[in-house]
Amino acid sequence: MKALLFDKELKLVNDYEKPIPKKNEALVRVTLAGICNTDYEITKGYMGYVGILGHEAVGIVEDVNSDDKSLIGKRVVPEISYGCEDPECEWCAKKNYRHCPNRHTLGIWQKDGVFAQYFTMPTKVLFEVPDEVPDTQAVFVEPLAAALEINEQLHIKPMDKVVVLGDGKLGLITALALNSQNIDVTLVGKHQNKLDIAKEQGVKTALLQDFSIEKKYDIVVEATGSVSGFETSLALTKPRGVLVLKSTVATGKELNLAPIVIDEITVLGSRCGQFPPALRLLQSGKVDFSKLISGIYDVDKALEAFERNKEKDTLKVLLKF
Ligand SMILES: [Zn+2]
Ligand SMILES: [Zn+2]
Repeated sequence: MKALLFDKELKLVNDYEKPIPKKNEALVRVTLAGICNTDYEITKGYMGYVGILGHEAVGIVEDVNSDDKSLIGKRVVPEISYGCEDPECEWCAKKNYRHCPNRHTLGIWQKDGVFAQYFTMPTKVLFEVPDEVPDTQAVFVEPLAAALEINEQLHIKPMDKVVVLGDGKLGLITALALNSQNIDVTLVGKHQNKLDIAKEQGVKTALLQDFSIEKKYDIVVEATGSVSGFETSLALTKPRGVLVLKSTVATGKELNLAPIVIDEITVLGSRCGQFPPALRLLQSGKVDFSKLISGIYDVDKALEAFERNKEKDTLKVLLKF
């Protein structure tokens, strides 16, 4: 089968062996997949991963290795990871699979990813996509679930004022997801064209240069991944407010953390989320991600798609199988 492989370099191969589903796994034929920044980080050596890349996909189940064959023919999206399920594992025992130290993560750790004609995954982490949701929206379920994770971690009160800082994919998806729940959210960024995507769907937006930096927001979501973004986010958070870190800010630079103590700010790390609520939100039609698609490439042009993903103005690049 065709597969986009990373082994010191990124390469498209035509003769990768089609995977065979293990017990309780399904074989999924990929129809559409999304390139994520994590994929790009892996090509720079992140996690030391070798194998098929990719963790965002939609596909059709072709086979199931268990007695229950009901998933065959269904259109599904895979969660990105599953736990070790070792009875001794305290994380798996608490069903906290996403934090299992021996988890398998599609295209990132101990599991071939979805940038191939087929992948396998345990059936319990495959979710059926409602008919109303086209592949081009369903492929956003993983980042959308990650955005909705904030709701799981935090109780956002009706009068709370929320700011999302950063108008990249993550910031846009988070702002759209919060706005769809009638939360008072403002998306702040540096690119008018990107802010407009959210604005068209009713999100309040502002250019950073025009936005007054005051400590008046109950919840601030940092989605820029930059040190200056972290500092600005902190400067926007009300005393006793919550600063949500959605992007990993990797820095060697010294950070002044004193405001966190002085203003008693809660800093909350937030990563992946549950798929069912994200699928329900997509089904409701209250969010539309079509304007986030910068290009759809045939798998044969996957390397070109990766190049496109590196360009500055790109939001989501998709691979068609
Ligand atoms: Zn991703
Ligand atoms: Zn485990």
